[in-house]
Parts: sequence; C-alpha cells; structure tokens
Amino acid sequence: MSIASNLLQIKSELPPQVTLVAVSKTKPAEAVMEAYSAGHRAFGENKVQEMTGKYEQLPKDIEWHLIGHLQTNKVKYIAGFVHLIHSVDSEKLLLEINKQAKKADRVIDCLLQVHIAKEETKFGMSFEEVNKVFASGEFAALENIRIRGLMGMSTNTDDETIVRNEFRSLSQFFNEIRSEIAPPKFDILSMGMSGDYQIAIEEGSTMIRVGSTIFGSR
Ligand SMILES: *Cc1c(COP(=O)(O)O)cnc(C)c1O
Repeated sequence: MSIASNLLQIKSELPPQVTLVAVSKTKPAEAVMEAYSAGHRAFGENKVQEMTGKYEQLPKDIEWHLIGHLQTNKVKYIAGFVHLIHSVDSEKLLLEINKQAKKADRVIDCLLQVHIAKEETKFGMSFEEVNKVFASGEFAALENIRIRGLMGMSTNTDDETIVRNEFRSLSQFFNEIRSEIAPPKFDILSMGMSGDYQIAIEEGSTMIRVGSTIFGSR
C-alpha cells in the first residue's frame, strides 16, 4: 500500500467532525510530499528541529502541528509558523508561547495536554492543573494564544477497556470544561493514534494523530 492510498483509506472512514493529522516524524520530506500531493495539508511532528527543517523545505500551505514535548527555550523557533501546539503541559510554557507569538505578531492555537495514561513517563497536566489554568483567569488575558482544547494519549496496552475508559474520562472532562469555563472556540479534542483512533472517535475525539498506519512503521 502507498502513503496516498493509506491516507485516503483512513480519510474515507472518518466522520465529518474529525480531522486527521498525519504524523510524519522520522519520515523524510519526500514522504510528506506524497501525502501532500494526495491533497493532505495537516502534518504532525514531535521535535522542533525536525519540524523547522521540513517547514523550510516544503510548501508553505502545510499546517504544522507540534505534538511532542516542547521546551520553553525552543518555542521561538516555531512561533512564526506553527499551526497548533498539542502538547502544552505547563503554565510557564503557555506564557512563553504567548510572548513569542506576540513577537511574531500572531495568535497561536494551543491544546493543553492532559495526563490520562497509567505510564509515569508521559507528559501532561492533571485534570486539577487544567482546571487551575482556567480558574486563574490569568490566561484569558493572554492575547497571543488561544486555548482551543485538550490532547491526551492512552496507555500503551492491548486492553481495549483501559484505553476506552481513559478516552472517555478525557472526553467527559473536555465537555465539562467547555460548558463551564472554557473560552469561546474551545472545540478540539485531540486523541487517538494508529492503534486506538477508532476507539478515540467513538469516545468523542475531534482530531486524530496517525503516523505508522499512513507512513509505515518507524
Ligand atoms: C508518534 C505520535 C503519534 C502517532 O503515532 P502512531 O502510532 O505512529 O500513529 C501520535 N501522537 C503523538 C503524541 C506521537 O508522539
């Protein structure tokens, strides 16, 4: 199967409210171009350096999504072009994104990454920390960021019940925040990867991040 046919196959199965981010990390620019030529524009990278390299080489109408952990000292390299940062996991990072977005004369869309998996190593905020961000009001005053929603990753397990329960709890939390305290346009729930995106969609995902099913294993 080719990249283009894998991509079109997934897209043909998606409900209309769900957006696909094609995760091109570790894959060469030519692989991105193959998906681009098939009409795809949204690509995800987990490393700043790799994303800026591909940004420079590839067509400028690509929407670049940063999905991996972002260090504050690297925000400046992507602030001029990044489309959506999925992986905001601290207030300090939000402040830095706002600062760099202001310098670049942009408003940058962000998702707060929430820790829902059992693994210790995965980044993300707790539900409580997310609540604090909205309750503080400080972030409503930041003019160069827009918090568009939440992102989460499930535990890496074959047990579908665990995965489904984690996605369900994030989805419920997302809906609570949205109806209670979230800003306008809080409408993105980024959850689901190659192994679990069908479950994520059933549980309310509006954005899936799929790499290996499109580009092959890494
Ligand atoms: C690598 C990665 C993905 C895509 O993973 P696949 O299993 O290849 O689909 C999605 N989200 C994040 C945060 C990732 O790092």
